Amino acid sequence: MKITISSANNAGQDKQKSPFNLKSIFVRVFFALLASAVISSLKLDFLESYLYDVRVTLKAFVGLSEPTNSPIVLVKIDNETVEKYKSFPGYKLHADFLNKLAKGDPRFVIYEFRNKDGKFEDIDGTEEEKVEFAKAADKINEFYIPTDKTELKAEAGKLKFLPPLDNLKVFSGPKAPDMFLFAKDSVHRRMLIDYQNQTLLHTYVASYFNPAVQNVDLVRGHFEFLDSNQVYINYKRKGSYITYDFEDVLQGKIDPSVFKNRLVIVGTDTGKSVREYVLTPFSREITGMPTLELHANMFQTLIENSAPIRLPQWINILLTCLISVLTVHVVLTLKPSRGLLLLGSTLLSIALLTTLLFLCFNVWVDLAHPFLAIFLCYYFFIPYRLIIENRKSWEYLQKNKLLQQVEELKTNFISMMSHDLKTPIARIQGMTEMILKDEVALSSMQREAVDTIKSSSDDLLKFINSILQYGRIESQGVELHRQSKDINQMIQDVIKKHEFLARVKKIKIVKDLETLFPISMDPDLMKQVFSNLIENAIKYSPDESTVTVKTREEGNSVLVDIIDQGIGIPAVDLPNIFMKFFRSHNVKTSTIKGTGLGLYLAQYFVQLHKGEITVISDTDGGSQFTVRLPLSH
Ligand code: ADP
Repeated sequence: MKITISSANNAGQDKQKSPFNLKSIFVRVFFALLASAVISSLKLDFLESYLYDVRVTLKAFVGLSEPTNSPIVLVKIDNETVEKYKSFPGYKLHADFLNKLAKGDPRFVIYEFRNKDGKFEDIDGTEEEKVEFAKAADKINEFYIPTDKTELKAEAGKLKFLPPLDNLKVFSGPKAPDMFLFAKDSVHRRMLIDYQNQTLLHTYVASYFNPAVQNVDLVRGHFEFLDSNQVYINYKRKGSYITYDFEDVLQGKIDPSVFKNRLVIVGTDTGKSVREYVLTPFSREITGMPTLELHANMFQTLIENSAPIRLPQWINILLTCLISVLTVHVVLTLKPSRGLLLLGSTLLSIALLTTLLFLCFNVWVDLAHPFLAIFLCYYFFIPYRLIIENRKSWEYLQKNKLLQQVEELKTNFISMMSHDLKTPIARIQGMTEMILKDEVALSSMQREAVDTIKSSSDDLLKFINSILQYGRIESQGVELHRQSKDINQMIQDVIKKHEFLARVKKIKIVKDLETLFPISMDPDLMKQVFSNLIENAIKYSPDESTVTVKTREEGNSVLVDIIDQGIGIPAVDLPNIFMKFFRSHNVKTSTIKGTGLGLYLAQYFVQLHKGEITVISDTDGGSQFTVRLPLSH
């Protein structure tokens, strides 16, 4: 009873605070949007860039970042060369190197070489050697020395060395580390493709191999920033480009034809100076990637026109809003474990989907804000949920307490009432029996009236006994007092007690009792069980029908069947038949009296014996109740 009442109450409350109530949806969406507005306004460049770097690294790791049809060849001066000449190569060696290179007829030579101080002009050498170098450079189709300086439009042509190197072409091809902007971690992620509408070195060279990039609008993933157009570098795995040794070229060990029509980038990788290296998404180690390889990646990005596309800001905001709404909804409505599971899988799916987008299509979806939205909304709204839950459980507790008190009151009241009623009824029964014994004193009408009084008081007593027993079960339970008893004998006794009732309705009681060993049971309780079942069978059967009572042994159990040809139980009522106070529809409207407690008590008593009671019933063919009692307990 308690459970039924309290769960009915919960259902009522849930209905009241249903998650689909319009007002609460509106409030949730409002707070979620407010949270996402705050989150979107946060500057999360560092985190965003870090998440981007993870994807770039993963792409290289799974082998999806290989240059396609690259015309780029690298020539590097390594530590062995420096050791051999006891210094960085001077102009003389460079002039010899360029003469060798010129034989291969490269299309472009980009001279990224610097001395250890990072300056080109200070390479060791006499004036004559400088002149020799300048002449050698002249033999190359296009020879450029990239510089990080960007000339203002008005200053065009001012980037020059002093004579005799003034003929060397210095070309602005700046590296753009995130030093003061974006992630501010000095990692090179982006590059300039033009500045104040002036073409820069990388775009100029790349457009020879891929004329499309001459037009900024056709460059994939380009975005405007200050006075420039920029793209993110499509990094290739480290060591992806064909690389030759400076010394090997100098010694003629490399066939010059390998440089034919190529873009040759010459630089250092000696490990002697941090200036030779740049930080990349792959690594923040100081010797992460030689600068010449960074240039190769910048050229290749434009040659392939394959820069990553970063999705616009509004998509980031939209995703953040959606995630916030989902998180708030999940936190406020789902069970914590299910909520965590759902949010965890959402987080994972987004991570997976965006990674796939990057790996397969080079599309960069911002993740920092949506991820932060999940965590912030979760931790912000969980305390709110806890407060609500706490209040609810406090209310339930109070209600339960109240219900418990009411229940106790009710039970006490019922047993008090029943006790007090039993005495006057016993007196009535005594008196009626006395009157009935005196056959002469009564007229037939009076006898009939006294008979009615007797049968009504019998009914009333039965009712009171059921209620009393129910009250006892609810308040303190029932204890078994087992004895070894012959079940057949018990059934015979019960049948005998009901013979009168059966005779009145002309019902035949057929006994089919198999010889059985005595079993251990509480005889009072089991007598009550069989009595109720046999009485029901007679009560709910038409006149002149048959009630069969069978006993048999099966496995480790004794089975008792009570079969009637009565009105049966409608299929919809069958599942509820053992519930307290339940009466099926077809009897409620009839004149057959009952409390709806008999089967409840019967089931309770049988289960106390670790047995079970089952029913098969059909409104056309009657009912069969079967009691199974274990032989050993
Ligand atoms: P009651 O005092 O109403 O007989 P019970 O708990 O003994 O209470 O039975 C519950 C209900 O089950 C009855 O009201 C009746 O609808 C149905 N029922 C029980 N036994 C039979 C039967 N043999 N045939 C038809 N209906 C039955």
